[in-house]
Amino acid sequence: MPWVRCPTCPGSDLKWFRDLEEKEYGPAELAVLALFPEETPFRPAAYQRCTRGSCRRVQRKDRWKTGASLPEGL
Ligand SMILES: [Zn+2]
Repeated sequence: MPWVRCPTCPGSDLKWFRDLEEKEYGPAELAVLALFPEETPFRPAAYQRCTRGSCRRVQRKDRWKTGASLPEGL
């Protein structure tokens, strides 16, 4: 599991990220493309999710600044 920066979590330490689950593909696409339309076509495999607590941050594996938060409940 990658150990990378999460801009949503408090603190400057790194966090563990994991690959997206299939149920997260659609919501992640909507959230990310709303902020980064240039990411079309959305490739779920290029993204990862923060695993810390209730954090819902999803971001690109190769560019942590390109990302968004999944809706509540996911
Ligand atoms: Zn996080």
